[in-house]
Amino acid sequence: MLPDTAPAPLEILNRVFGYAAFRGPQQEVVEHVCAGGDALVLMPTGGGKSLCYQVPALVRPGTGVVVSPLIALMQDQVDALRALGVRAGFLNSTQNPDERRDTERAYLDGELDLLYLAPERLRVPSTLVLLGRGTIALFAIDEAHCVAQWGHDFRPDYLALSDLHERWPDVPRIALTATATEATRTEIAQRLSLVGAKHVVASFDRPNIQYRIAPKNEPRKQLLELLRTEHDGDAGIVYCLSRKSVEQTAEFLAAQGITALPYHAGLDAAVRARHQSRFLREDGVVMCATIAFGMGIDKPDVRFVAHLDLPKSVEGYYQETGRAGRDGLPSTAWLAYGLADVVQQRKMIDESEGDRAHRHRLAQHLDAMLALCETVQCRRVRLLDYFGQSTQPCGNCDTCLTPPESWDGTVAAQKILSTVWRLKRERNQSFGAGHLIDIVTGKRTAKIEQFAHDELTVFGVGADLTEPEWRAVVRQLLAQGLLAVQGAYQTFALTEASGAVLRGEQPVPMRKDPVKQARTRARGTRGDAPAMPAELAPVFERLRAWRGATAKEQGVPAYVIFHDATLREIATRSPATLAELGTISGVGENKLAKYGQGVLDTLGADA
Ligand code: ADP
Ligand code: ZN
Repeated sequence: MLPDTAPAPLEILNRVFGYAAFRGPQQEVVEHVCAGGDALVLMPTGGGKSLCYQVPALVRPGTGVVVSPLIALMQDQVDALRALGVRAGFLNSTQNPDERRDTERAYLDGELDLLYLAPERLRVPSTLVLLGRGTIALFAIDEAHCVAQWGHDFRPDYLALSDLHERWPDVPRIALTATATEATRTEIAQRLSLVGAKHVVASFDRPNIQYRIAPKNEPRKQLLELLRTEHDGDAGIVYCLSRKSVEQTAEFLAAQGITALPYHAGLDAAVRARHQSRFLREDGVVMCATIAFGMGIDKPDVRFVAHLDLPKSVEGYYQETGRAGRDGLPSTAWLAYGLADVVQQRKMIDESEGDRAHRHRLAQHLDAMLALCETVQCRRVRLLDYFGQSTQPCGNCDTCLTPPESWDGTVAAQKILSTVWRLKRERNQSFGAGHLIDIVTGKRTAKIEQFAHDELTVFGVGADLTEPEWRAVVRQLLAQGLLAVQGAYQTFALTEASGAVLRGEQPVPMRKDPVKQARTRARGTRGDAPAMPAELAPVFERLRAWRGATAKEQGVPAYVIFHDATLREIATRSPATLAELGTISGVGENKLAKYGQGVLDTLGADA
């Protein structure tokens, strides 16, 4: 039972966070947890998970204990809460003994609203003893997919979390994740003993993100064009598969005058920390990274996420792209995808360790990702369908903006497949994409001469399509499982499914890659992101400059002071008094007291 004096959740939301209303299912979750119930919350990245445990931690007596694997971000999270006037602290291995002791004392004295802990801390008996001596308002288990065996970063430490329930049966637990197929959700619930908890699944749609998947020709040049034409000076993340391509991409962008930094697991921890901190603190930094980067990064103004290589699963892709536009403003998710990606990923699966079932699962994940890439339907419809949710064509993805045509690729498919078949039967040979395409297009290369492949009956049967078109055909055959990649030389072989196509029993619909990609500016559709007239841009820039200087002075990221969306609203409404300023979304009590005058002075400098 809550004491009668407990504040109402909505009052906390208004006063502390400066927000007018709960979003989506937040209210339902908050009320349930405030009343002592357990919950498993699935929300997309940027959906607003943090408030689901932060508000109840402020409503219930005692300290909210937050278990999070993101040690490198705890300081920033705590700083952001302190800026709101919330009493927050953390315990992790980066602290010196004095800092740790201060935090422990504050906890025992009941002077902490929120305490962040790394999961490994909970395996240390002294931590459990410490927690037992204070009052725990709730346990929040962030990034809960870490308990899932097939999650992206399985942490054995997380398994110990089910013990919390036995030790503190009366303390509510709330687990949160953005990774959420039905299978993952069931696994999380079982492993954390949350089967009986309230399960809340928010809409996974992120309407302000424009999804685009482009045929990959010259990826770095394509990326540069995207940055130059649509995201000049914006912060963003560029994901690459390998450390080497991370380095090369960062160097390439830097040589073009863009502030780009590399981030991958092979870099020194200090370098990684420095780059992450610059990305969070400076404006307009482009982070080139492997997927080792980004979990828990809550920088709200990441304007684009670009993938230069094909992600391994739709879940991973959606989580990575979800890091764009947490502030609800227009953002871009852009992926370049080509034939070589499919070959490479199929090969990696073949060579991967683990049993057949594991490889099968990897192949299923890849197939779902390929289906998304090759679809002629709305990308968002496909994405949400993957998470078991339905929606209408969105009007804000590449296939909606420039609908690709589909065409009957049966004959083209037969030409390639019969080339593969003849090479095998007549010559006992197998080759990769380039040479197959040379054969069907009738190109007389040295290799063709060497093997006398111009004597094959299929030589030159495909002069009707261009080389890029043939590459698209081969790519789609691989994607549809009509060709398989084999061996160290990545040559092609027929599959069980190829026969029906060769015999003319099965048509092969294909997607025609649009010549020009959609290039409409991404748009925002969230109500709390008002458009700003051009004449207000100088005011906005002045506010940004003030914010930048203030952030520097206090050693925190600029968004900890106010988000862009809040500055925009301030510029638009131009409040004349503190009271008026206080009604703007994102301006809570503490920030009003701390920064209100600075904002009014900055606005006043106008006159
Ligand atoms: P998640 O952890 O789910 O990725 P966050 O908790 O970081 O998302 O929230 C994403 C953004 O939305 C943050 O900038 C947060 O301040 C904002 N936000 C969350 N809930 C609300 C709300 N009810 N009203 C306005 N803004 C909100
Ligand atoms: Zn769409």
